Amino acid sequence: MNKHVMKNWLALGSVLVGLAACGGAEQTSKKEKTQPVAHRHSLDTNKGIIDNTNSPNVQLKSIDIGDCRWTQGFWADKFKQAEEVMVPYMGTVLKGDVGHAYNNFKIAAGLQEGQHKGFWWHDGDFYKWMEASMYIYGVNQDEKILQEMDEIIEVIGQAQQPDGYLSTPAIINDKIKPFTNRKYHELYNSGHLMTSACIHYRVTGQTNFLDIAVKHADYLYDLFSPKTDSVKRFGFNQTQIMGLVEMYRTTQDKRYLELAEQFINMRGQSKVIEDPTTKGYPIGDMVQERVPLREENEAVGHAVLALYYYAGAADVYAETGEQALIDALDRLWDNVVNQKMYVTGAVGQTHYGASTRRDKIEEGFIDAYMMPNLTAYNETCANICNSMFSHRMLGVKGESKYADIMELVLHNSALSGISLAGTEYYYGNPLRKIDGALDYEKMNTELPQRAPYLDCFCCPPNLVRTIAKSPGWAYSKSANGISVNLYGGNELNTTLLDGSVLKLTQTSDYPWDGAVKIEIKECKAEPFDIILRVPNWAKGTSIKVNGQSVEAVPGQFAKITRTWQSGDVIEMDMPMEITMLEGHPRIEEVRNQVAIKRGPVVYCVETPDLPKGTSILDVYVSGDSPMKAEYEEDLLGGVTAIKAEFMLRQPQSGDDMYRAVSKPVFEKYQGQLIPYFAWSNRGEAELNVFLPVIWE
Ligand SMILES: [Zn+2]
Repeated sequence: MNKHVMKNWLALGSVLVGLAACGGAEQTSKKEKTQPVAHRHSLDTNKGIIDNTNSPNVQLKSIDIGDCRWTQGFWADKFKQAEEVMVPYMGTVLKGDVGHAYNNFKIAAGLQEGQHKGFWWHDGDFYKWMEASMYIYGVNQDEKILQEMDEIIEVIGQAQQPDGYLSTPAIINDKIKPFTNRKYHELYNSGHLMTSACIHYRVTGQTNFLDIAVKHADYLYDLFSPKTDSVKRFGFNQTQIMGLVEMYRTTQDKRYLELAEQFINMRGQSKVIEDPTTKGYPIGDMVQERVPLREENEAVGHAVLALYYYAGAADVYAETGEQALIDALDRLWDNVVNQKMYVTGAVGQTHYGASTRRDKIEEGFIDAYMMPNLTAYNETCANICNSMFSHRMLGVKGESKYADIMELVLHNSALSGISLAGTEYYYGNPLRKIDGALDYEKMNTELPQRAPYLDCFCCPPNLVRTIAKSPGWAYSKSANGISVNLYGGNELNTTLLDGSVLKLTQTSDYPWDGAVKIEIKECKAEPFDIILRVPNWAKGTSIKVNGQSVEAVPGQFAKITRTWQSGDVIEMDMPMEITMLEGHPRIEEVRNQVAIKRGPVVYCVETPDLPKGTSILDVYVSGDSPMKAEYEEDLLGGVTAIKAEFMLRQPQSGDDMYRAVSKPVFEKYQGQLIPYFAWSNRGEAELNVFLPVIWE
């Protein structure tokens, strides 16, 4: 176990502060209610990860969970590892005494003695692991997973209060009064409960989990819809917006959509002052409450909070079509992706700092183009949330640039959060690491190496559920056809929106090789569209249908409309050029440096690949020397490395902050770069993504 035990990053006094109940919040919680769990509306039968099949403002709609299976190559290997290692290992941890998450539910249910352990949001992280399990079940139909979930759901049901309340810290500890202080993250737990329950219903057809979520959503509606002052500022780690929209989609109960929208409408409407409901957690821009979303121009505050909020708002837009909302989301997406995102797709530049409106912030966004490498925070969750926001925007707008971001995050700043063994995790994902630069003993979430358990366990299940649901991101249904969002060996067996069957296979060694072959196995007789994403980096891409060329524009979808038949073959070839990228001139931290990227994969230099004792800071890349990509089966579980000539600068003496410099002495070194996601798998090492460059 890692010795760097994480401290409560709320960092404000005792975690057992019992605050006075405020307003009517308390009374609505533990009172008895007879609430039969009957579904007042007929349940929806679509099975998408986000079920936008009937959403009026969506261009690209989800395929059903289980329609796509990775069959060979990179993502097939990752999915298999999720199935065999990541999800089972995590289950053992969370159900055991180290994770204690399941214990919390058992104690809350009166089935076990003990105290609540873990952060306030630990329930939510347990629901994320359950969600991951359901995606795996959706593909492999392993009855054991179903039985395990049924047992757990039974316990969760017993933990739920008669009125529908369900968050184990307050159920276990009488000193915590429900919905009296937002630092308890009750709505975060709510959001993951509702999402996980919807997924469980979609893949199993059972309503045992959904019934619990319905009872809880009804409780939330009763509590929040009167918009009393005491609850107005609660929605801040806004997974409940996404959860409520999925509940609406599943149950067709409009109140849930109304409440989801209300959580957007209430934000930015209260005075930014500390009150009993906010004490113990930063206020203002940190939690996106200074400016109403529809008026906001800048992504601010905690990056996870912000991006869950935007993702939820995109779900609401999918149902309501409100122009002011999508205009704001367009501005915010652009601000994140074009001014505050790392080359790895990571977001949240700093652990602590201030917003441009001078509110204290943590784990979040700072000024545009202010992109430190060494101290970059880049929480794994934030990176994943970035791709979740883009996934929703892909649906709503139908433009390939959103899938480019999903791909970028997946292949880089998401996967860097987990070890190649699948059992150790990073919370932060910096772009540079130098021995001795950070005092890890003083930091709570930065780690010198990935750890097998993190006290704040939000990231690991978020990442594992993302890998487990990745087949569902690979394709979307268009008005009359299918879009191919992600590449990798897979089989698709789905129905188009008109109900006709479409079966196809995709063969590829992506991301190591840019050749993709898609073969139609079964389809309707009438013409339909196959829409291929041509990544923005893929200059010179060619697409051929049965040998005939089709136009391919990088950064756009290539839409091929024709009468397809079984045996038709699409061959796509994306040149995997090794590219040196420089940052926007405004990014001072990377002036005269380059990052190296090949296809969707960002590369890095790591000390195990350098002569012993070399400082990562002395490694320069030779701009004129050719680089070569080579697949190495025995390196880091099998990756394509980039062979390059480095210039190693002779170390400088002295520790002065500023010193006179004369022309440095360099030594040539034939070395290699490895994929960023695979760093830190060979012991504690130094890392660098942006390298100084020398041109002849
Ligand atoms: Zn996290």
